[in-house]
Amino acid sequence: MVGTMHAWQAVERGHEVVQIEREAEARGASLRNFGQIWVSGRAGGEELETALRARELWEGIGERIPGLGFRANGSLTPLRGACELAVAEAAVARADSAARGHKLLTPGEARALNPALRGAFDAALYCERDAAVEPRTAQLALRAELSKSPNYTFLPGREVREVVGPGAVRDDHGDVHTADAVVLCTGAWLSGLVRELAGPELPVRRVRLQMMQTEPLGEPLTTSVADADSFRYYPAYASPALDELNARRPQAPTAAEHRMQLLMVQRADGGLTIGDTHEYEHPFAFDTLEDPYDHLAEVVESLLGRPLPRVRRRWAGVYAQCTDPGRVVHRRRVRDGVWLVTGPGGRGMTCSPAIAETTANELGW
Ligand SMILES: Cc1cc2nc3c(=O)[nH]c(=O)nc-3n(C[C@H](O)[C@H](O)[C@H](O)COP(=O)(O)OP(=O)(O)OC[C@H]3O[C@@H](n4cnc5c(N)ncnc54)[C@H](O)[C@@H]3O)c2cc1C
Repeated sequence: MVGTMHAWQAVERGHEVVQIEREAEARGASLRNFGQIWVSGRAGGEELETALRARELWEGIGERIPGLGFRANGSLTPLRGACELAVAEAAVARADSAARGHKLLTPGEARALNPALRGAFDAALYCERDAAVEPRTAQLALRAELSKSPNYTFLPGREVREVVGPGAVRDDHGDVHTADAVVLCTGAWLSGLVRELAGPELPVRRVRLQMMQTEPLGEPLTTSVADADSFRYYPAYASPALDELNARRPQAPTAAEHRMQLLMVQRADGGLTIGDTHEYEHPFAFDTLEDPYDHLAEVVESLLGRPLPRVRRRWAGVYAQCTDPGRVVHRRRVRDGVWLVTGPGGRGMTCSPAIAETTANELGW
């Protein structure tokens, strides 16, 4: 998506673009994610500004391309007990809370927005700015629209292997592609070409997540849903109230072991995409573990007040994340006319249109 959004920006600005993809179709993080255009937990400042700008861009592109499945569904985080409520109150008291559309709701108000939340909870944090797209089809839909332009060419099944001169790369078919600018948006593939160009000290790490998707719920889940464990991972919730929550109500052992939170969004077919875990240590597991899925199913069932529909798909995905959490993305000129853009982390789907816009502005496209 990061690469495709760069192509979008360049074509919109009247340039010719050749997009080179190693696979026959993209198979990376951009298809494996929740499709959450997630504003709620972003750190104040540059990160929040990028997410808000990106959401605006997504909405505009979504109006042009219905296949993205953009919807301004908002999110709800149901809260239980005084400690969780205190973290949400601190979030609502932030100076940038209105920009996020944060609001504390009673259970009745939350259920008026999302009647599928029949489980017990005491209050809910609403984020009006959160939105969603369909990750399995968004990139395809965007590319289909790009392909209508005579200025856009997609070259699948070719790996960029080498920089052979200013703005010139060679692919694994031996063909050389020359341009005014080459932008390498290689996702979490940080070895090979990227290591050669950026050196071994690239300030980006890889993170692996487990996900699942159910059969259709049989009713609308009108908002995205998070659990209060998400407070422990998103920077916007850092506060004395969060320290108190962590001290007095530590995470369940499985959730702590796999650094989990619940995020859930309904797909266009009615199924639920549910996750996630976070694995940082290498080598990554090559299989998916059942304990985290059991934990997620339990949390979802307690919020929905009903059994989870049968799980239809399980998968894992890997994203690249800047090791400095203050950086939205790692964008660096690695050779004359060649830029590397990677490391947007767990917000890359959200921020991709704004990241591409910033690259375009900085490079004077
Ligand atoms: C499970 C999971 C859930 C997530 N949920 C969310 C979410 O809900 N919201 C959010 O904002 N973010 C989310 N993220 C993060 C987000 O998905 C990523 O940050 C984003 O998709 C990264 O996009 P990308 O284009 O950089 O990488 P990718 O989608 O991985 O794409 C990189 C592409 O580059 C190609 N490539 C690599 N090297 C070469 C080469 N040398 N030559 C040619 N092609 C090459 C690859 O084949 C691949 O298609 C999630 C990530 C995961 C894994």
